[in-house]
Amino acid sequence: MHCLDRAHDAGFKAKAFVRALEVARSLPPEELAQRADAHTLTDLEGIGDSSAKVICQALAGGDIAYLTDLEATTQVPITVAGAIYRDALLGDLHLHSRWSDGGATIEAMARTAVAVGHQYMVLTDHSPRLTIAHGLSAERLVQQLADVATLNLQMAPFRILTGIEVDILEDGTLDHGDEVLSQLDVVVASVHSKLRMGEKEMTMRMVRAVANPNVDILGHCTGRLIGKRDPSEFDADYVFAACAQFHTAVEINCRPERLDPPRPLLQMAIEYGCYFAINSDAHATGQLEWQPHGCNRAAEVGVPLDRVLNT
Ligand SMILES: [Zn+2]
Ligand SMILES: [Zn+2]
Repeated sequence: MHCLDRAHDAGFKAKAFVRALEVARSLPPEELAQRADAHTLTDLEGIGDSSAKVICQALAGGDIAYLTDLEATTQVPITVAGAIYRDALLGDLHLHSRWSDGGATIEAMARTAVAVGHQYMVLTDHSPRLTIAHGLSAERLVQQLADVATLNLQMAPFRILTGIEVDILEDGTLDHGDEVLSQLDVVVASVHSKLRMGEKEMTMRMVRAVANPNVDILGHCTGRLIGKRDPSEFDADYVFAACAQFHTAVEINCRPERLDPPRPLLQMAIEYGCYFAINSDAHATGQLEWQPHGCNRAAEVGVPLDRVLNT
């Protein structure tokens, strides 16, 4: 699963493996072995040819060719220059858990963050406006903070910082008030709705959010989805000048379908003196390995390393 996520291939194939795993676990071990010998695993609903092959290889105790191959072929590519940025990153400031629309528990995300070499991560599940993403109300956020506190005791010195990805509403106000946002370590603010509003309105909307003293990072600023959705229209001069003025970092979003902001905008943000954050925006453990996408781009455009918050 982790490797398929990393390769952004977590759709049908990954679901099939999870289903096969459930079926295999529900069987007595003797029956599983018998069926493997008799080549009747695929008679079971939920186990196909690839899953059957993996189960047989696992039972045989040797290397699992499929998994070894997957491990090798799903590595996220990084350039020599990009590696300098990646090596400097100490954490990730934007990621999701099952509390909103992520696929993994907070603990699984944290353990993977440790495994990829981070000292900390900021948990930024969605805010309530994003109902399709099961956004967190103030009440659920309080419960989450208690869970995070417990996990932090178990996982020290690794640290889970508290946060949220708050929605920028149409008028530029946010989806949680000061009393909630001021309690959190890091607030990422992003536009998720009405992405096609007029340029002038969108500029005012974004500047107002960027100027909010609770906001630390402007998430995936254009909202584009490569090949699927065009960037929103806004006056980037105003928005990046505001980011520099109010010390709100511009996110370099590492999701392969976003890679936001596009290069010319990133260049412009550098010129305005903005700070940056290279964030995975991971919704699954494997996606925590996506930072190289943003590191490659930061290196290519020449983002000053000392302006990247998570170094
Ligand atoms: Zn978002
Ligand atoms: Zn996000």
